[in-house]
Amino acid sequence: MAGALPACEMPGLRTFLRENRGGMRYYRRPLTTETLFKDLPLHPMMAAALARRGYEVAMPVQAAVMDPALAERDLLVSSQTGSGKTIAFGLSFAPSLLDLPAPRSEKGFPQPRVLVVAPTRELATQVSNELGWLYEDAPVRLASFTGGTHVGTDVRRLRMGVDVVVGTPGRLVDLLSRGALDLSAIAVLVLDEADEMMDMGFKEDLESLLNAAPDTRRTLFFSATIPPTIARLASTYQNKAARLDMRPAGGAKAHSDIEFVAHLVSMRDRFAAVVNELLV
Ligand code: AMP
Repeated sequence: MAGALPACEMPGLRTFLRENRGGMRYYRRPLTTETLFKDLPLHPMMAAALARRGYEVAMPVQAAVMDPALAERDLLVSSQTGSGKTIAFGLSFAPSLLDLPAPRSEKGFPQPRVLVVAPTRELATQVSNELGWLYEDAPVRLASFTGGTHVGTDVRRLRMGVDVVVGTPGRLVDLLSRGALDLSAIAVLVLDEADEMMDMGFKEDLESLLNAAPDTRRTLFFSATIPPTIARLASTYQNKAARLDMRPAGGAKAHSDIEFVAHLVSMRDRFAAVVNELLV
């Protein structure tokens, strides 16, 4: 493997990339912060899941939401994709799921206590996978509801009881209007990528979901940007939200906290090169 050079110092890099498609990769190395998960007030089940995953250093948004002063507060967070926001809200709503008794339907099944709304099927799936390993040890049922699947299956799943509902706005509103999704026991409602959802025309769906959840809930908005539409939604549906601006300082571009390094390797050495890089 050739030595690492910062991408910007590599002569003829663009030409080389064009001519050697597949023979070169960019590796993104996140720079670490100071906060360790072991120094945060985490529920032991969350701490164990993070340790199993090998995550020791909290990303800034994760450290920020775990501030004990924010434990009960609504949050309006500007945070980019890839910033670790899914674990951030997963950790933030843990006390509502793990420290309080589960509300039950008349038939004795758990009623949804947490609702996470995401703009696309892909993002909803990612969120539910991420929460899946974080809550692996917890007595919590998690399910994802998105368009493009048979709605009858979702209705049956909800009847059997779900604690954490993840889904896309359209399908969630469909389930709500069929009476299959009961939001009356929601303790925490998360809008993930709220700006994307507004841009995609989901304003009314989001309002229907927010209106169907009790006023006593916590409402967490995560959004890369806070345009006036989001600010208005927040002021209508949040209660004295704490504002967390986790964008890179100084108006820097997204992902400016990631170091880009290019390595020249032959096709055959690609796998070994990645392993070497990960071991550094
Ligand atoms: P997200 O911004 O939630 O989409 O997260 C992006 C990726 O970062 C996911 O693959 C997470 O599993 C990963 N991630 C989140 N928090 C950490 C952490 N503290 N240490 C290492 N990776 C993390």
